Amino acid sequence: MSTSDIQPKKPQRILSGMRPTGRLHLGHYKGVLVNWLKLQDDHQCFFFAADWHALTTDYANPGIVQQTIWDMLIDWLAVGIDPEKCVIFIQSEVPQHAELHLLFSFITPLPWLERVPTYKDQIEQLREKDLGTYGFLGYPLLQSADILMYRADGVPVGEDQVPHVELTREVARRFNHLYRKPDQPLFPEPESLLMPASKLPGLDGRKMSKSYNNTIELGETWKVTEQKVKTMPTDPARVRREDPGTPEKCAVWDFHKLYSTEDERSEVHAGCKSAGIGCLDCKKVLLKHLEEELQPIRQRRAELATHMDDVRDIVKKGNERARIEAERTMDKVRRTLQMGYRV
Ligand code: SF4
Repeated sequence: MSTSDIQPKKPQRILSGMRPTGRLHLGHYKGVLVNWLKLQDDHQCFFFAADWHALTTDYANPGIVQQTIWDMLIDWLAVGIDPEKCVIFIQSEVPQHAELHLLFSFITPLPWLERVPTYKDQIEQLREKDLGTYGFLGYPLLQSADILMYRADGVPVGEDQVPHVELTREVARRFNHLYRKPDQPLFPEPESLLMPASKLPGLDGRKMSKSYNNTIELGETWKVTEQKVKTMPTDPARVRREDPGTPEKCAVWDFHKLYSTEDERSEVHAGCKSAGIGCLDCKKVLLKHLEEELQPIRQRRAELATHMDDVRDIVKKGNERARIEAERTMDKVRRTLQMGYRV
């Protein structure tokens, strides 16, 4: 065979996943899902619930995966991730990922994993968990297996994930070099598709994160969202209604920059500085936009939640499609390693 096993470049194949470790919030929507929505229109996308990845840090609490995985999948569908356009699946339902991870572990030098920047960062950040495990060190390699399983051309990532794609490229190169002829590589080297970072802060101005308790969850009720926004901290200089403020010192203003029209922004800005408006008036403008964005998602979410059989069916079909593709790759891998025994 003289042709390469690498798939033709178009349409570009994309692989991306999300760990089911908690309820999705607006930060996930703006930072990840909005990008997926764009990608699914003109790429061949595989989106997966990374339940094994969740266990690399939450191995002591596996129940959290079971609790959150369906909520997360419903959120994906509710925002418009479309099973007609992409493959939606659960990682552990495609056990080939574990097989490829194992095979890659034989050829991956330990220092490649030890030098991944997120390894030391996360151990530092998650001190309450014992992450001195084999699985945690190896999770970027499991990611490499996830990506290369579908011979993805591109992986949408934030800045901090670029080294993981770089590792994947090295693993692909090493596999191709060790086992394939130079003109017959099995794995393409995927590109990092650097996604614009979400500019949305949390309700207290820090990064939106469940560990800071500053999120607007996609699945919460409007009443809860309204209450959270109404009690958002504002510029501390505005103690009384007649005290002027500085929008740049207020997280509400950061939300306005993302949600409000230019006219609304200049009105709010001027009104804040002159104390012409109160903080509640200012927040009302924002609430109107949040309601427009969130309420249709929440309505679809509520409908989906009452049709769980349909949701399960969508995921079941996605799992099947992913398994077919994964088996295609594993068949080539096993033959390459002379392990296609066929007994
Ligand atoms: S008026 Fe708006 S921008 Fe100014 S401090 Fe109040 S909430 Fe913040």
